[in-house]
Amino acid sequence: VNLILLEPEDFLSGDPRDPSCDRGPQRVRLGGRQLRHVREVHRAEVGRELAVGVVGGPRGRGEVVALDENALEMEVLLDGAPPPPLPVTLLLALPRPKVLSRLLRDITTFGVKEIVLLRTWRVEQSFWQSPALEPERIRRQLLLGLEQAGDTVLPRVRLRRRFKPFVEDELPGLAEGTLRLLAHPGSSLPCPRGVSGPITLAVGPEGGFIPYEVEALEAQGFQAVTLGERPLRVETAVAALLARLS
Ligand code: SAH
Repeated sequence: VNLILLEPEDFLSGDPRDPSCDRGPQRVRLGGRQLRHVREVHRAEVGRELAVGVVGGPRGRGEVVALDENALEMEVLLDGAPPPPLPVTLLLALPRPKVLSRLLRDITTFGVKEIVLLRTWRVEQSFWQSPALEPERIRRQLLLGLEQAGDTVLPRVRLRRRFKPFVEDELPGLAEGTLRLLAHPGSSLPCPRGVSGPITLAVGPEGGFIPYEVEALEAQGFQAVTLGERPLRVETAVAALLARLS
């Protein structure tokens, strides 16, 4: 973990995201899960400096100034900005719950800020009932992804259980002004590399998109692109696509 993410309520001196807030050193107090984590993973002790960031806010350094069984206090200076986002909106056919959790984390680490989990024909119905979709569980994975990347800005995750209305009514606005790509092993067009502008990227479920879905996305200006004829696991495909496009 490369960054300790602080919540505004950890600050003893008020919300650090407030622009009128004092820019000098601020006191933070951590307890509970975060305290255990900082003790065990970061081996925190008084005098140590740790990289910190505020969820939805700046980054900086924190010096441990007090530590006991119940709390850790840090003096933090927030003088940095989070890394730039990856300008990719990811439309992802809802994967199976275990894969979803890992994927959300990795996608967040890549810097994607807009994620749409989409119902497609070959998404198993039962996936939508999974506890992995509870907002708190999703947020947990996103935070882990941010900590890994040294980022502070949570992606927005939308759940869309109706393919057609999403694609016809919402997607045109969402994808406006972006390069629209549909990852499809069967396509003959190689996926472009190092694209500089914003992208909307659609990735299918384990069973792939059905022809109707490919056509519906193509009607919205999406172009089917491939990484090669071998169908990859969704996780592998997403990582390879984001790395290749960025
Ligand atoms: N049998 C399915 C494979 C689906 S793999 C099919 O032929 O479509 C799951 C998803 O990962 C795909 O829908 C696609 O979006 C992405 N993907 C996997 N391998 C890929 C590849 N070689 N090129 C482009 N996209 C790929």
